[in-house]
Amino acid sequence: EISRATRPVRRLDDRLIDKIAAGEVVERPASVVKELVENALDAGARSIDIAIEAAGVGLIRIADDGHGIAADDLPLAVSRHCTSKLSDAAGLSAILTMGFRGEALPSIGAVGRLAITSRHREADGAWRIAVDGGRTAPPEPAGRGVGTTVEVRDLFHATPARLKFLKAERTETAAISDTVKRLALSAPGVGFTLVMNGRTTEYPPGSTAERARQVLGPEFAEEAIALAAEREGIRITGHLGLPTSGRASSQHAYAFVNGRVVRDRQITQAIRAGYQDVMARDRHPVAVVFIEIDPAAVDVNVHPAKADVRFRDTQAVRGLIVSSIRRHLAEAAPRASRGISN
Ligand code: ADP
Ligand code: MG
Repeated sequence: EISRATRPVRRLDDRLIDKIAAGEVVERPASVVKELVENALDAGARSIDIAIEAAGVGLIRIADDGHGIAADDLPLAVSRHCTSKLSDAAGLSAILTMGFRGEALPSIGAVGRLAITSRHREADGAWRIAVDGGRTAPPEPAGRGVGTTVEVRDLFHATPARLKFLKAERTETAAISDTVKRLALSAPGVGFTLVMNGRTTEYPPGSTAERARQVLGPEFAEEAIALAAEREGIRITGHLGLPTSGRASSQHAYAFVNGRVVRDRQITQAIRAGYQDVMARDRHPVAVVFIEIDPAAVDVNVHPAKADVRFRDTQAVRGLIVSSIRRHLAEAAPRASRGISN
């Protein structure tokens, strides 16, 4: 018999496993906001209130009026790999594409103090469950109307190394407000309120165009060119800022695949390539681009939290983005300024 000391292979403690896994889902406060707001949208919320203190490290609170979570489901909701969304969607690939892996809540609970208060639409009352450093307390009765409030305090207190790696408060705050803008653009029919550093931003429910105006400003809305194209089962719609109103950073390309926020370099580059002929080299376009595609044509082997996507046929998607943007910009340009140099 070989002694225990010389057999060093052993299983990691569950809470340690959770913390390691959490690092992949929860990179920064803005990723917590993204996961929680997506959950609220998945629950059919019509109204989502977001409160942020100390750049999200102090407090992230998201309250929605969605269908809520039943008391019996609360302990499951905060357990790893538990999701209610499997049976809702068409197929496994569709589910994985949407990122339904049941990892967000347990990950957040592993690195911060998590409390969920929820009242299911068919329940008489609300219940509250708390998770701290991966330890879950049993649900207790609480008070609220139908819907869910998720509160995260002291994010990363359980992982000091991660806390140290966060950027300045200003940078994390900007990342949160950018994330909320993207989420708001993805769901124009849902009302959003963001209260951050004592400042309130409101996006009342409306059409896609109205939401683009709220998020990107009246100037953008006035000049923007409507985008619509379809080829080989890929549909692209959206709003294109004028080439003359390019920005210094590439942060202003807002892309969505099947209604989900994505931040994908290839898509951003394709959008920019569409502007290439008409925009100064050091500028980046302001554009909102919705891509609708068969979920089976989107590769699922990409981490959902990173928000980048792989298309089975990248060239088809890229080609349609580039050519449709180019054509819409050319058609919208005033005649006088076209071909004048020939
Ligand atoms: P996933 O979204 O991948 O299912 P999460 O860890 O984000 O995993 O959430 C786990 C489960 O908790 C969800 O499947 C859902 O049933 C429930 N849930 C989370 N947030 C909400 C919410 N705001 N409203 C209703 N149910 C929620
Ligand atoms: Mg989720």
